[in-house]
Amino acid sequence: MHDHKECKECMQFLALLSDYQDGELDLALVGKFEVHMGDCERCQAVVKTLRQTIVYYRTTRCTAVPRDVHSGLITALRACMDPED
Ligand SMILES: [Zn+2]
Repeated sequence: MHDHKECKECMQFLALLSDYQDGELDLALVGKFEVHMGDCERCQAVVKTLRQTIVYYRTTRCTAVPRDVHSGLITALRACMDPED
């Protein structure tokens, strides 16, 4: 289920996540991202969390997720994915 190779792929997608979320990602990469996500519960959770965060800000007053919230989320996820053994 979880190996280093998969983890590396997740990291690559995390790096692209903000472009993906902004709709600025190349279509070919969007396709790859979605194929990977279909197979990877962690990336699904990341995108779900990010969307919930965005919905939260939209339903309050802001129209965009502040940069620091966004990057804080990604930093937290990276730390969480870091192999510890
Ligand atoms: Zn993944």
